[in-house]
Amino acid sequence: MTPPEAAGRPADAGLHTETAGPHTETAGPHPGMPTYLGMPSFPVAAKTAVADSQLRRNLAHATHTIRAKRAVAVGELADWQELRAAAKAIKDHTLAHLDTYLLRLEQNVTRAGGHVHWAQDAGEANAIVAGLVRAAGADRVVKVKSMATQETGLNEALAADGIGALETDLAELIVQLGHDLPSHILVPAIHRNRAEIREIFRREMPGAPADLTDEPRMLAAAARAHLRQAFLSARVGVSGANFAIAETGSLVVVESEGNGRMCVTLPQTLISVVGIEKILPTWRDLEVFLALLPRSSTAERMNPYTSIWTGVTPGDGPADFHLVLLDNGRTTALADQTGRQALRCIRCSACLNVCPVYERAGGHAYGSPYPGPIGAIISPQLRGVSSPVDASLPFASTLCGACYEVCPVAINIPEALVYLRGKVVDAKRERHFSPERTVFHASGLVLRSARLLSAAQRAAAVGGRLVARSGRIRRLPPPLSGWTDTRDAPAPPPESFRAWWARTRGSQPRGSQPRGSQPRGSQPRGSRPRGNRR
Ligand code: SF4
Repeated sequence: MTPPEAAGRPADAGLHTETAGPHTETAGPHPGMPTYLGMPSFPVAAKTAVADSQLRRNLAHATHTIRAKRAVAVGELADWQELRAAAKAIKDHTLAHLDTYLLRLEQNVTRAGGHVHWAQDAGEANAIVAGLVRAAGADRVVKVKSMATQETGLNEALAADGIGALETDLAELIVQLGHDLPSHILVPAIHRNRAEIREIFRREMPGAPADLTDEPRMLAAAARAHLRQAFLSARVGVSGANFAIAETGSLVVVESEGNGRMCVTLPQTLISVVGIEKILPTWRDLEVFLALLPRSSTAERMNPYTSIWTGVTPGDGPADFHLVLLDNGRTTALADQTGRQALRCIRCSACLNVCPVYERAGGHAYGSPYPGPIGAIISPQLRGVSSPVDASLPFASTLCGACYEVCPVAINIPEALVYLRGKVVDAKRERHFSPERTVFHASGLVLRSARLLSAAQRAAAVGGRLVARSGRIRRLPPPLSGWTDTRDAPAPPPESFRAWWARTRGSQPRGSQPRGSQPRGSQPRGSRPRGNRR
């Protein structure tokens, strides 16, 4: 097991205990991601998170450290952009022919002695895994870090079935022992600092040394001792996969600690839950992604451990291998020409580490195992936009574009965010009366009529004088208070341009009179305002 610092993780990666804040707004049912049930929408959760200056400091330190290391690792490759374009092309081709490659993968996994199961949603996937664990005569499993099983809420589903699941990735173990939720794709305990981790270990880890310090090496040693017996005695291992090769039926897991290698080789039964978008057509395609992923995620030239297995081999590794292929909303995303690019994601987390919103709000605010920019576009596609939390996610961005620049598979996240914002607005329009839409409709009527516009400007000038202080409006009454909660606005001028024109030139500017009342060219040339003929 690699200590946090050596694994490319800042050792004092953050301190946070309660990001979600008071749960005044519930998210509604999320059958796909049950661990986050009841999380508030992004603005509610983020408001609490950004008020926590310690969390902001820790996140800023951690993300800046990883960001800088990644930039150096990426800068070493002169053909980075070509690799990126190749990865995008491979993924796009695969998604366009996903049906073909999925069947090819199934055929080759089966030929190599594995079993393939198809899960339409999280519930089906969890039931399949629970059934397989029971069939193996086990009541606990050891797990490799896996986003797919976080997405399905597998640990909770297994617990409800009387099956214990032990996370073996160090950061996931910290989260699990702390009864916490992950807040980063790659560094799930980024919100915890070393002192907190030591306290969690001392409190929750059976056999933790009494003199445990917060030195990374000591913490890693304690976790290693805790996990070793579990690795040796577990009959079932559960993993995800970074890639699934259709051509050979091989699965690939990349990791930094070696715990994944233990989980996929020591138990008698191995169950891998893999999203259907993780396919690569050929073995050759893998080389592109093995160059891109470690540099983008841990800023390493290659992953310390790359485990690849194909079905079963008598006398070597698990005797029983099951692949659970998970849809859970992916085919819906695939059908969307703009949104489907999110399925190219290889979960490197580079977009999180450059995002100014993630850096301040942290991962819990996203109410999903997928935080940050990728979470803002993938969760609303997998779960729909009907709940407050999912409807809020596409707006959790400044649209600065930093995520697009660093993404190794060139996902245009800002484009997808704007597109999903449109879907949220459309969904709301269908469901409710919208004050915003009413305001814009009324604005349209006013802007189409010179007379109404002039009256509105006069009213705004009077109203502005009543509420403005020193030329700024700092607080407006409801329902306009939402605007001034986080910003102020300049006071409307005491006189509009048209009123000024009429007062100084003795007539209305062209276009302010009712259509047809003023023939073209009837104004003297010199009386036209310069530089603005429209
Ligand atoms: S969207 Fe791109 S940058 Fe973000 S996690 Fe996925 S692959 Fe990495």
